[in-house]
Amino acid sequence: CGVFSIYGVPNAASLTYYGLHALQHRGQEGAGIVSVDESGTFRRIKGGGLVTEVFDEAKLATLKGSTAIGHVRYTTAGGGGMENVQPFLFRHNTGDFALAHNGNIVNSELLRRHLENKGSLFQSTSDSEILAHLIKKETRYHDRPRIFSIIDALNMLEGAFAFLIMTANRIYACRDKYGLRPLSIGKLGDGWVVSSETCAFDVLGAEFVRDVEPGEIVTIDKQGIRSRDYSMYKRHEMCSMEYIYFARPDSDIDGCNVHAYRKESGRLLWKEAPAEADIVVGVPDSSLSAAMGYAEASGLPYEMGLIKNKYIGRTFIQPSQELREKGVRMKLSAVRSIVRGKRVVLVDDSIVRGTTSRRIVTMLKEAGATEVHVRIASPPMTDPCFYGVDTSTREELISARKNTAGVCEEIGADSLVFLSPESLLKAGSRKELCMACFTGQYPTALYQSPEEANKD
Ligand code: 5GP
Ligand code: SF4
Ligand code: MG
Repeated sequence: CGVFSIYGVPNAASLTYYGLHALQHRGQEGAGIVSVDESGTFRRIKGGGLVTEVFDEAKLATLKGSTAIGHVRYTTAGGGGMENVQPFLFRHNTGDFALAHNGNIVNSELLRRHLENKGSLFQSTSDSEILAHLIKKETRYHDRPRIFSIIDALNMLEGAFAFLIMTANRIYACRDKYGLRPLSIGKLGDGWVVSSETCAFDVLGAEFVRDVEPGEIVTIDKQGIRSRDYSMYKRHEMCSMEYIYFARPDSDIDGCNVHAYRKESGRLLWKEAPAEADIVVGVPDSSLSAAMGYAEASGLPYEMGLIKNKYIGRTFIQPSQELREKGVRMKLSAVRSIVRGKRVVLVDDSIVRGTTSRRIVTMLKEAGATEVHVRIASPPMTDPCFYGVDTSTREELISARKNTAGVCEEIGADSLVFLSPESLLKAGSRKELCMACFTGQYPTALYQSPEEANKD
């Protein structure tokens, strides 16, 4: 998912619309904006689909105020119903508030049961709502400022999160203590911007200020920004999938540009696994940077051997099995004149189920490639993710069932090499990174077995 917020800039909802549009790659299943005006009135619009499908000018004009938060949804935990589209809006006699979340709470089932036993009624099956109930229900001292209730609540959560909380006169921005999900702060005129990715700052002409730190809660209000640590345990185990696949290449995450990271991973991939070949081809769009790095390091020409049709929306009618067998392929096409008679190095960012690689290898060979050497800019994915990336269940992961030789055979490649975990770390000059889906070493406590992960 993606979260975004504007504080203290007129027409905050319209700016949030542009911000969410820049974060669209983080979730295409739903979008929502909540604004709050000077009189403290909260207004919300949300719906299923792309940002451009949910909002138009007339709707945005009704979302009055100079503060707003927004969300784009990517379904993992909680299922895909409309009630799970964020931001959530809570009406309360002590003041309304809205909440948007990216990530996944691993102890959500326990917390939900605990809260339900104490009388909470949940509107949704999303675990993001749990934080709101914790803030309200778990407050032991009702006369304290809200920040202390938020700090208490955050300390009960285990897992990955970037949370935005909006009250009538403040935005609170917080990140989990492991640093698994990104969240950055920018300055726009007299106001502030908070975004899952920095690419949204550039779109608005906002200036990057800094990242929200792991275990930190940043308060934004008319006094400016203030910081508090809600936890002393602080790691920098950013989700490696953010760099590998999820984030936009023009974003900087934890101070490292995503394109630069991918390109370096491609260079390291060549060092670890050079191939005798004629051209290097990347799988659009997420693998192009790694393919460029591989080509540059190897001295082989980088070629546009695959073209992606950009106009496949969510509502696109997918071809039936029969049509697929007849060769109707919607998303990617091989460029025959480029790959014919060539030995191709095919660079992709990751192999999950193996379906994409198998299709592309077949496609390249049908277009006349004589050999296809697959190079993957991440290690074999052997374990499920508990932190909000839908990398599927362990049974579905091809590398959990087969070794590299077996995967190579199944995708029909002439050779296959994955990047090592060491090089994945090195690509971003990082000491820490979550690589649990490649190593099985999870940074947090777990409340489910890996077999139960990613089963909604
Ligand atoms: P596979 O076809 O092996 O199941 O998936 C691998 C392909 O899916 C890669 O080309 C990669 O770009 C893309 N991919 C990697 N991670 C994810 C993810 O978390 N979600 C989705 N939808 N696609 C992914
Ligand atoms: Fe990211 Fe994998 Fe860690 Fe999940 S397990 S947070 S996908 S690196
Ligand atoms: Mg891909």
